[in-house]
Amino acid sequence: MNKKRISIFGATGSIGQNTLDLIARDRQSYEVVVLTAGSNIDLLVKAALEFEPQAVVAATNDQFQELKTALSDTQIEVSTGRKALLESASRKCDLAFSAIVGAAGLEPGLIALENGADLALANKESMVAAGTLVKRKAIENNSSLIPVDSEHSAIFQALKGENVNTIERVILTASGGAFRDWTLDEIAQATPEQASTHPNWNMGQRITIDSASMFNKALEVIEAKELFSLSTEQIEVLVHPQSYVHAIVGFCDGGMMAHIGPPDMRHAIGYALSYPNRRTLPLEKLDFAKIGSLTFMEPDKERFPAIGLAYEVMSLGGISGAVFNAAKETALDGFLSKQIGFLEMCPIVEKTIVKLCHKENSHKLEASLINILDIDEMARSVAAELIRTYRS
Ligand code: NAD
Ligand code: MG
Repeated sequence: MNKKRISIFGATGSIGQNTLDLIARDRQSYEVVVLTAGSNIDLLVKAALEFEPQAVVAATNDQFQELKTALSDTQIEVSTGRKALLESASRKCDLAFSAIVGAAGLEPGLIALENGADLALANKESMVAAGTLVKRKAIENNSSLIPVDSEHSAIFQALKGENVNTIERVILTASGGAFRDWTLDEIAQATPEQASTHPNWNMGQRITIDSASMFNKALEVIEAKELFSLSTEQIEVLVHPQSYVHAIVGFCDGGMMAHIGPPDMRHAIGYALSYPNRRTLPLEKLDFAKIGSLTFMEPDKERFPAIGLAYEVMSLGGISGAVFNAAKETALDGFLSKQIGFLEMCPIVEKTIVKLCHKENSHKLEASLINILDIDEMARSVAAELIRTYRS
């Protein structure tokens, strides 16, 4: 049996490391082609020595010598910088894991698709900022998009063998994040440290804070619309504190398929790795008698206004998702560097949308890569300016 050739963009992150954990348990099925990281050289070197890929890339330029020295006894090609990262995405592989955080993950994914790879899509920002473009590239190159976000993997699995025209609605569940039971006043005072803890999932810092603000769910609503070509009205969000039900698909005949599993990303990652087959995975078996009850509630729009913004973005259409995502990333940087408070992130994103989309109509441009990268840059600078005015 031929080994499946895997590249991992963002190999040192939470998704990347979980992917490597699964590959390590099934070495006869997979061959690693490329591993990339942002700046975590130690983890990149450790993974390179263990999995012996053809090439490793660190996105930050200043670490070339360190990486080269650490891998000098191997045949592994070493390079650094954004250009090298993009070049590595054109190396032939069967499945590319898009596991970089943020819009920085868009281009490697597009290049992997252009080179015929299937794309395991953890990087939800790609679908939010450039869903039309990503889908077009996949169709043009006869490649599959395999969702890795747990809710979207759940929907993808529930839809296997179904006709998408029979979908009535899709319910995405949300844990509610770190501040699910906090008052508005408490949330207003929240620190980055407090926002960086998650009740159920163990993830990278940025997505964990996005879970606390529910920006993560807002991104996921748009991601679901794009991935499954749904209409805005078909997508609902429910808070489900236990995080066992990942998503529910309701069909036109009243039947509903809920995907249930432990809150462990290795399920969705493993499904993407072995798709279209299923393989045994090292996951906890749920004991429903012990769990007892599963609860669901409407998200509180006042304490978590981010989800409302996602619906506005979907009704704006065009490339407004790129504005939304870039403004959100900039606002998150502002919160992390303590320039703005937790509750100021949403108004900054909203004002950026008002300026670039409602006033200037910039989002109506064609969904080309150049337009998306341009509007992303504009949104970052508008949001950064708003952060400066908040401070003064
Ligand atoms: P993380 O922060 O743990 O890891 C991100 C990875 O990207 C690291 O390897 C980092 O070095 C690299 N990176 C960061 N900035 C980069 C840049 N500018 N250029 C190149 N590489 C860069 O993030 P994560 O939690 O693994 O999330 C990765 C993606 O998967 C995100 O889009 C996230 O929304 C999505 N996702 C994550 C989870 C999860 O459980 N962690 C669940 C669903 C979806
Ligand atoms: Mg998710």
